[in-house]
Amino acid sequence: MTYLAVDIGGTKLAAARWDGSLGEMHRSPTGDDPWPVLTALLDPLADGMEGIGVGCGGPMEWPQGHVSPLNIPAWRGFPLRQELARRYRVPVRVHNDAVCMAAGEHWKGGWGTDDLLGMVVSTGVGGGLISGGRLLDGAGGNAGHVGHVVVEPDGPMCGCGVRGCLEAVARGPALVAWAAAQGCTARTGVELAALAAQGDVLALQAFARAGRALGMAIASIVALLDVRVAVLGGGISQVPSLWPTLRRSLAEHVGLSYLDGVRVEQATLGQTAGLVGAAALFAAEDHYWSAD
Ligand SMILES: [Zn+2]
Repeated sequence: MTYLAVDIGGTKLAAARWDGSLGEMHRSPTGDDPWPVLTALLDPLADGMEGIGVGCGGPMEWPQGHVSPLNIPAWRGFPLRQELARRYRVPVRVHNDAVCMAAGEHWKGGWGTDDLLGMVVSTGVGGGLISGGRLLDGAGGNAGHVGHVVVEPDGPMCGCGVRGCLEAVARGPALVAWAAAQGCTARTGVELAALAAQGDVLALQAFARAGRALGMAIASIVALLDVRVAVLGGGISQVPSLWPTLRRSLAEHVGLSYLDGVRVEQATLGQTAGLVGAAALFAAEDHYWSAD
């Protein structure tokens, strides 16, 4: 069976065919009006495929696939699943992009476990949960929103409207804002990471702050769900100075004996995890898709 895997983000769109493994990845900048860009990307890849799996930024109505990605203002309630099905005349499944990353890492990341927390830490903090070998969807397909675990009760305001969520503390722009308030000159996460690599104290403190918050949130989630492996992807997860504090914070905040040996690791599939997970919505015997 051949499927088309699609990853829709605020800055770029990516697609690849799947026929047991991921084919060549094709990419385009998302632009202000993503639909013509998306169809130009998919048209040449669509021949002979039997379904389209899509990971897309949230929020969305699931499983209907009406998407309103925070980073794509042109799409508000856009019927993505319906429009793709109409154009390509094949079944389409759409899930959250961070959920797809978690599914991809669980399915093909080589972790050897039925229970896994996958997280994406970049402009936002998202995630997905695999329990007993299956994706947890929750009542409305939103399970795994790890960015909104509270880590600082009086902390910074989150985009969701309350204070102290993990995302409000650890997302890239929050780190840059925190460092700027202390006098750091970095204007982007990439600049902040470069400063940290040079040993800049404020930049190092910013990533340590993120590491502490992530460790705390992960400790709560793994205890709740009896998960032993947390896998991190996204730009912030690639900053080396994040990791010592993250691992220390996780160790400090897990106490229960069943969590001995719990670990947090970097995603193994890198940038392709989302596409592999999008393919898995069809290709993995419904381990990651429970609706229709
Ligand atoms: Zn929040």
